[in-house]
Amino acid sequence: MAGEPQSDCLFCKIVSGEIPATIVRESETTVAFRDINPQAPTHVLVIPKVHYPDAATLAAAEPLIAADVLREAGEVAADEKVDGSGYRIILNTGSGAGQTVFHAHAHVLGGRGLQWPPG
Ligand code: 5GP
Ligand code: ZN
Repeated sequence: MAGEPQSDCLFCKIVSGEIPATIVRESETTVAFRDINPQAPTHVLVIPKVHYPDAATLAAAEPLIAADVLREAGEVAADEKVDGSGYRIILNTGSGAGQTVFHAHAHVLGGRGLQWPPG
């Protein structure tokens, strides 16, 4: 069924606790944890607890949960004190754009100068 945990999904296993992660925030519908390979001083991933392959399919099926992911991304930025200096929310979609984990997730990056355009 849409949204159900997938046995072969890394982020479903982080949601269930089967794989450990450094969790910085949790809500009824989302989990936020530090990226294992940080690309900036603050690099946190915000994921929905339900499984959808990317942000757009999540938003189409569960718009309220997609909004929760965005709101939590903003809360992470405030917790990490990068909201003043600026931060970036990235939604890589598809392997050609660098998506490697096919469970929707938002990257929250901040704490250093962020190049624009990203290249
Ligand atoms: P994507 O490339 O799909 O947009 O992002 C996936 C992210 O997940 C990458 O930045 C990668 O470093 C991170 N990642 C992959 N495996 C793990 C893991 O086991 N734990 C954590 N915390 N992050 C992971
Ligand atoms: Zn999953």
